[in-house]
Amino acid sequence: MPIDATQPYDDGNIFARILRGEIPAKKVYEDEHAFAFHDINPQAPHHVLVIPKGRYVSWDDFSATADDAAIAGFVRAVGLVAREAGLVAPGYRLLANVGQDAHQEVPHLHVHIFAGRKLGPMLA
Ligand code: IMP
Repeated sequence: MPIDATQPYDDGNIFARILRGEIPAKKVYEDEHAFAFHDINPQAPHHVLVIPKGRYVSWDDFSATADDAAIAGFVRAVGLVAREAGLVAPGYRLLANVGQDAHQEVPHLHVHIFAGRKLGPMLA
């Protein structure tokens, strides 16, 4: 079920539980601002999720309320994860769903990194 991105942050969401180490994830990167792991249901040969460590439902509250260090750290981490996976030359796609029409399912901000095949034109 898509979530309402205006809802308050829910500390019981699955990505919060992954951050707390309560459920396993296939980690690819971690620093003070970000955690990256393989998507459990990959939509491309390379499908990684990058999440901030702070309590943000979506790109909306993150961009509006996170401090500059958290935003810079997260954005740099997304780039680093893709670069270190060797994705820059072949190319990759970033996606962050916000709320119901975009079909956001997990109420903790996540940026998808898709790569490993020709991804085709943007879907909108
Ligand atoms: P959304 O539709 O943008 O919210 O994407 C949520 C993503 O989280 C989907 O691609 C799911 O496959 C993925 N996902 C859900 N639960 C887990 C998990 O426990 N580990 C890794 N990925 C997950």
